[in-house]
Amino acid sequence: TRSGRHSRLVVFNEEMRTKEILEQRLLNDLKYAIENKEFLVYFQPKYNVQVDPPVIGSAEALVRWKHHELGMIPPGDFISLFEKSSQIGILDRYVWAETARYIAQWKEKYGKVIPISVNLSRIDIFDPDLEKTIEGIVEETGIGRENLHLEVTESAYTEGEEQILEVIRCFRSKGYHIEMDDFGTGYSSLNMLSRMSIDVLKLDRSFIKDIKGEDDDSKDVQMVELILDIARSLKLVVVAEGVETKEQMEFLKKRGCDLIQGFYFSKPLPADEFEEKAIKD
Ligand code: C2E
Ligand code: CA
Ligand code: CA
Ligand code: CA
Repeated sequence: TRSGRHSRLVVFNEEMRTKEILEQRLLNDLKYAIENKEFLVYFQPKYNVQVDPPVIGSAEALVRWKHHELGMIPPGDFISLFEKSSQIGILDRYVWAETARYIAQWKEKYGKVIPISVNLSRIDIFDPDLEKTIEGIVEETGIGRENLHLEVTESAYTEGEEQILEVIRCFRSKGYHIEMDDFGTGYSSLNMLSRMSIDVLKLDRSFIKDIKGEDDDSKDVQMVELILDIARSLKLVVVAEGVETKEQMEFLKKRGCDLIQGFYFSKPLPADEFEEKAIKD
């Protein structure tokens, strides 16, 4: 019989190989998948909780991959892969264009527009064609710059911050809204906040997930209160991410958080379901 140690090693190597093969497969399939419309854009509503009853104020576009052989693949399984291989721009461009196309289509059909944010990877920001790409999409669809919000994750600001600040400043001066994603997870949070012009701060789910309720005196509650105070003094709109319970929602609402995104209100929805829920009256 094989020794435990030996078989563990074999399993480990096989797992590594399987993972490598799978990743290579996904990388190879990217272009085919774009051409064959395998990427689906889902929309997760952000609810304005400072009105009663809460209403959908905006949404976030989140990609999924309906692979012809492997089935539905979540973005966690391929985004970082495409980032590492510098191909993320191909996918992101597609997602931005699809999002703008939906906004335009709903505007045409219902005369109603809900601003939707799209995700920008760090690599996108350093792409010299970024401005041209996004401006092209907005002009072609005629949706208006104020309706395509740009989410930039806080950790994108770690290196080359001067250039990033410049890109953000440029988009903002044209009328785009900038949302700082995953706020609180990077190392530069406060430093960057003071230097950069943004419109929206997205409080990361890690602050929210363990909050039990209003009289919770945990560090998380104190951190959230502190961040909401800072955001208020900087006149930023705050979105709380990953809100799953009524208690979390009530707590955030009471403390003046503007928008809430999370399973408590809605999961990310396919376009037709989002249309039904958010656009149609
Ligand atoms: P993110 O930008 O922080 O997006 C929020 C993630 O939290 C989404 O995961 C969403 O489904 C999930 N979420 C929302 N509410 C809840 C909740 O109440 N509880 C929990 N547990 N999770 C919640 P998703 O869709 O799997 O996306 C994961 C990440 O992949 C995103 O994190 C984003 O960084 C990236 N991503 C997604 N779509 C795109 C895209 O088109 N381009 C790029 N560059 N990145 C994308
Ligand atoms: Ca995001
Ligand atoms: Ca986020
Ligand atoms: Ca925690």
